Parts: sequence; C-alpha cells; structure tokens
Amino acid sequence: EAKAQGKNRCIFFNTKFKDSLNRKNEIENLLKKISYDDEFELYYQPQYSIRDKKTIGAEALLRWNNKDLGSISPVEFIPIAEEIDYINSIGEWVMEKAIKQIAKWSNQSIYLKVGINISPKQLDNKNFISKLKGFLDENSVSPEYIDIEITENITIEGGYRVKQIESLFSSLGISISIDDFGTGYSSLSYLKTFPFERIKIAKPLIDVISTDNFDFQIVKALIMLAKSIGIKTIAEGVEFQEQLDILTELGCDEVQGYLLGKPMTVSHLEELLNTQNI
Ligand code: C2E
Ligand code: MG
Ligand code: MG
Ligand code: MG
Repeated sequence: EAKAQGKNRCIFFNTKFKDSLNRKNEIENLLKKISYDDEFELYYQPQYSIRDKKTIGAEALLRWNNKDLGSISPVEFIPIAEEIDYINSIGEWVMEKAIKQIAKWSNQSIYLKVGINISPKQLDNKNFISKLKGFLDENSVSPEYIDIEITENITIEGGYRVKQIESLFSSLGISISIDDFGTGYSSLSYLKTFPFERIKIAKPLIDVISTDNFDFQIVKALIMLAKSIGIKTIAEGVEFQEQLDILTELGCDEVQGYLLGKPMTVSHLEELLNTQNI
C-alpha cells in the first residue's frame, strides 16, 4: 500500500517534470521558427511623473501570442531565448519596433521617453551599439527618447559589457535606468560606475512599503540617496493609492504600476494620454 503510493507519487513527479521539459522544448522550437511580426507585440506601460501629474514615459513590454500555446509570458520565454541565443534577434526586433513607434508618436506630437529592456547577453554582441544607432538614424529618432533598462549587477560580470554600456552613454547619448533595484545583490557602489539616469525601485519593496517598516526605511533611504547624488527614482509595481501617497511624501520622482495603468496596446495608451490632456 505504502509502496504503491510511493510509486504513484514518483510517476506523478516524473510526469510533471516531463511536462515542463516538453513545454520548454516546444517554446524553444517555436522561438526558432515563428515570424516575430506575426506573433510578437509591444505593449506599453505608462510611467507617471508625480510632480508633473502626467505620463512622461512608457516601458515597452514584449507580448507573445501563439496560435497553439496562447499567450506566453516574457518571464517564461525570455530566459529560454537567452539560453538558445535568440535573445539578440528578439532584442533587435524590440528595439526597432519601439523606435519606429517613437517616430510615429512624434508625428502625432506625442513625446514619451520609451523604456526598452535589455538582457545582459545583448551587451555581449559586438553589433549591439551599431544596430541601435542604425535604428535611430533610419527613423530619425533622437536618443533622448530612449531609456535602456538593465538589471543591476550587470557590470560586475565583465569588461566587455562595461565597455558597451559606456558606448551607450558616450557615443549614443542614451540614458540608462537600473531595473529591479533593491532586490538581489544590490551594491550601492554600483551607482558610482556610470552616470545612471534612474533607479527603478523593485516591486517587492513597494509591495510592503505600507506594512513593513524595515522596507519602508530602505525605500526612504534609497530615494534620499538617489536625490543627493542626482539620480532619479521610479517606483515599480504601484497598485494602491496609499503607496502613491507614501512615495509622494518621500519625494520619489515617478511611479509605474497598475494604479496608473497596466501594460497596454498602443491605441489604449493613446486614449489614456488623451484623457490626461483634457
Ligand atoms: P520588468 O522589466 O521589471 O517589467 C515590469 C514587470 O512588472 C512587467 O511584467 C509588468 O507587467 C509588471 N508590472 C508592472 N506594474 C505592475 C503592478 O502594478 N502589479 C503587478 N503585479 N505587475 C506589474 P511583464 O510584462 O510580464 O515582464 C516581465 C519581465 O520580462 C520584465 O520585467 C523584463 O525583465 C522581461 N521583459 C519584458 N519584455 C522584455 C523585452 O522586450 N526584452 C527583455 N530582454 N526582457 C523583457
Ligand atoms: Mg523593465
Ligand atoms: Mg527586469
Ligand atoms: Mg522591473
């Protein structure tokens, strides 16, 4: 009886494990053959300036809708794309699409700074900078409308990435924000490495800002520190008015989160901007 149960459990475990391997394989194979133009779309999530009381930017977030698997989260497929070295081609699609969107918006007199997420692996590609510059030139888009989001601690890993980041600043004049700041292995000395534009305070800290005094103190200190060294702050994952009130009190510059707007299609974002202008 016990043995039979153990065996069942084992089968159950193996099936689950096999299912997840199968799904990973399926995603790998799909990523290698799909047409990005047919299945990918960029959604945009508003970034709201507390002082100006309006949307001043938007983060581009990749969406994948496949006819067999349905919608697949970037949390699931980006790591797989990194593993099979497809992140460069996907990343290039994202950059070009976002830059073309900026060009369209500027024709409609919409001026938003667009945040583009970059995987550390993209910085290992020696063509990264020239590709990005090419997209900007082809579409006559000024680098001031781009903000590159990279996850903290990227620079610790190697010289080449550091060089590439330097080129982003110096030869392209593009600003960089540190994504998900305050989780993982944060090191404040990291802020000294480059003239970063912004830190994005990670959602897990913002989640508990009104309930956990320790994390509240961390957020408060981060905002004060950033201010004193001339770096802007944006809070990620703001869902409740109470969080916005606290962040306003602490002097945070910008907020992003479901309270202000979920990631949305281009046309929905344009509607939202219209209502804000009235
Ligand atoms: P991220 O760059 O930190 O993006 C923020 C994530 O938080 C997004 O998830 C967004 O939808 C979610 N979010 C924003 N506000 C709220 C909120 O108030 N509540 C909750 N529950 N969630 C909120 P998403 O779109 O699923 O993207 C997940 C991650 O996938 C991103 O984290 C980023 O690391 C990666 N990613 C997305 N698009 C791209 C891309 O084009 N290139 C690369 N390399 N990575 C991407
Ligand atoms: Mg991001
Ligand atoms: Mg991230
Ligand atoms: Mg983030």
